[in-house]
Amino acid sequence: MIIHSSEFEISAVRPSQWPEGGLPEFAFIGRSNVGKSTLLNRLLNRKNLARVSAQPGKTRQINFYVINDRFRFVDLPGYGYASVSKRERSQFASMIDKYLLEREPLCRIVQLVDIRHEPSKDDVAVHQGLCELDVPLLVVATKMDKIGKSQVASHVKKIRQTLQSGVEIYPVSAEKRVGLDELWTLFEADMAP
Ligand code: GDP
Repeated sequence: MIIHSSEFEISAVRPSQWPEGGLPEFAFIGRSNVGKSTLLNRLLNRKNLARVSAQPGKTRQINFYVINDRFRFVDLPGYGYASVSKRERSQFASMIDKYLLEREPLCRIVQLVDIRHEPSKDDVAVHQGLCELDVPLLVVATKMDKIGKSQVASHVKKIRQTLQSGVEIYPVSAEKRVGLDELWTLFEADMAP
């Protein structure tokens, strides 16, 4: 994918702020610190379009980016951040649910998990919820460069077993730019008429 333009549009805290639909949307979701901002920046060849979090979980909004005036990336707030209150957590969980359930242009959900670790309880719960939606789902296993090449297959297998899911799992390293072309190929196919 050749990126001609990528622009931040809005940090939405409520649905009335979501941009007008029309362009297909790819939504990214994962535990804080999983490497979501880094992946978005690398996919778009930008240094710092999506903020790489100094303070994990600080982002509470849904961030919309428009790319090539053709599609959007939607950065959903990181979950599993221990120090937010229960009330705050349920507020942004319901905002994410609303987006996932109601957003008509949503064409693909990308859930990120860290390839090094067994998915957390939160990862599994989120995954099971996502599987029930009527939207194509993909799991991206991040930070592949942090494990040896020979370990990749067994870690992917462990992730699949823990998530109890038949969903495809793509190992990537945003840092080393590995696996990104495969993601773009899939995204292109999602947008094909
Ligand atoms: P976010 O909270 O999910 O947006 O996570 P960030 O993108 O801020 O990344 C969290 C940390 O993981 C940062 O220190 C990143 O530099 C690091 N990180 C992200 N992706 C990779 C990767 O592919 N490889 C390695 N080694 N580190 C990564």
